[in-house]
Amino acid sequence: MDRRNFLSKSSAALAVASPLAWADDDKKKSKKSSDHHDKPKTTEPTTPAPNPTTPPTGTTKSRVIVIGGGMAGATVAKYLRLWGDNIAVTLIERNSSYISNIMSSMVLTGQRTVSSLTYSYSKLTSAYGVTVVKGDVVEIDPVGVKVKLANGTILTADRIVMATGIEFDAVPGLIDTNVMPHAWQAGAQTTLLASQLNSMTDGAPVVLTIPKVPYRCPPGPYERACLMADWLKTRKPKSKMFVLDANPGIVTEVDNFTKAFAMHGITYVPNAEILSVDPATKSLTTTMGNFINNGVVNLIPGQRAGKLITTAGLNNATKLIGDSAFRFAGVNQLSYASTVSGAGKVHVIGDSSATPQPKAGHIANQEAKVCADAIVRSFAGLQPDQAPVTNSACYSTITMTQASWLEAVFQYNPATAAMVASVAGSGASVGWDTENFEDMNEWFTALMADSFA
Ligand SMILES: Cc1cc2nc3c(=O)[nH]c(=O)nc-3n(C[C@H](O)[C@H](O)[C@H](O)COP(=O)(O)OP(=O)(O)OC[C@H]3O[C@@H](n4cnc5c(N)ncnc54)[C@H](O)[C@@H]3O)c2cc1C
Repeated sequence: MDRRNFLSKSSAALAVASPLAWADDDKKKSKKSSDHHDKPKTTEPTTPAPNPTTPPTGTTKSRVIVIGGGMAGATVAKYLRLWGDNIAVTLIERNSSYISNIMSSMVLTGQRTVSSLTYSYSKLTSAYGVTVVKGDVVEIDPVGVKVKLANGTILTADRIVMATGIEFDAVPGLIDTNVMPHAWQAGAQTTLLASQLNSMTDGAPVVLTIPKVPYRCPPGPYERACLMADWLKTRKPKSKMFVLDANPGIVTEVDNFTKAFAMHGITYVPNAEILSVDPATKSLTTTMGNFINNGVVNLIPGQRAGKLITTAGLNNATKLIGDSAFRFAGVNQLSYASTVSGAGKVHVIGDSSATPQPKAGHIANQEAKVCADAIVRSFAGLQPDQAPVTNSACYSTITMTQASWLEAVFQYNPATAAMVASVAGSGASVGWDTENFEDMNEWFTALMADSFA
């Protein structure tokens, strides 16, 4: 697959979710997709798209509460309004705006700012009629279909969509995570890590740790290590980069990252699980030995679905060795409805859910569309689409000016009731170049516009 073909596939793929996913797509996009795809999903819409600017009225039939306004939540709120005639959608988000994780590693190298990665919810309200509530949901009642906010407000609905992202495991010895920031949820820790790198003594070791899978954005830590190592060459040339990976090997894009690590002189240590840390000396004790007196430690802990999902008892999937409880929410992969008995009116999308698809923003956007389509169908008394297709495209920064790419297409397999990666639709670039880097910006702009604008 050549680069142009990949780019057209990845941007067209933002719309490839289900037959209804084509409802708002212009014909050009649909045509472009069928020109370049060997994927089967080019059917015309089975229901007309509503006027997207019509807000819910007094004759509203159904109400959906979306919790979390990230990649998954913003997209599902928008597409429920686009496709769902007379569905009232309330999006509850604890922050007033969204900071994209995607591209946030470039804040560390000074190539991006957090403000350039900040997205407002205003278009969801003005263009699509989503009611946006700033608040922290502290409890949900999956059976009664109710949510409780920190200020005591209780809201009820016909469906709840949980798109609350991830939470991080505690690390033994690390009381203040700012000492060894993860910067894996873009925001204050991203700028903190950038300033730690800037103020570090030249010659001090820089360590990045990778948790066991599944974690958010499989190529993300490897691409961040490459980016940081490239930056160190000119800014702290005496410093060395170490990657301590809890996994037995590089988990994705193995060829590219293996070559890139060699090129950058990165010391890569597999099977290095963090046992404890000493914040005073920025030292780490791992299953592969001690790494002491570091200059900067970017410690990315293990991940799980947010507390809200756990307290509601929806974490019924993905138990790692040593875990006492499941980490993520099991879902019906046709509708993203919880598989917990009695909780079928709660849907879980994005990084919180457990599916074979990667925890990625592009996939969160795709899952949101499949979920919105299934909810719209359900309100109309219909079954979900039985053959959804999703796509994940990802660019990895190998240097500060060059990128590689990776793509996967997933199709529903009725035999296993799961999304399965299609070999034919998946691929990766051989090597990296500056053109991919430029295409990455194009892809990112299209993805964020599809979710927030
Ligand atoms: C450095 C980095 C680079 C990445 N690069 C890529 C990439 O190139 N391509 C890609 O596809 N993906 C990438 N990702 C992954 C991507 O960012 C995530 O997979 C994606 O954000 C998941 O979307 P989500 O909606 O599940 O979670 P989030 O985007 O994290 O959104 C969750 C939202 O829920 C809100 N929330 C949580 N709990 C509550 C509550 N109780 N009440 C109210 N609001 C709540 C949060 O405030 C947040 O806004 C990257 C991630 C990182 C860290």
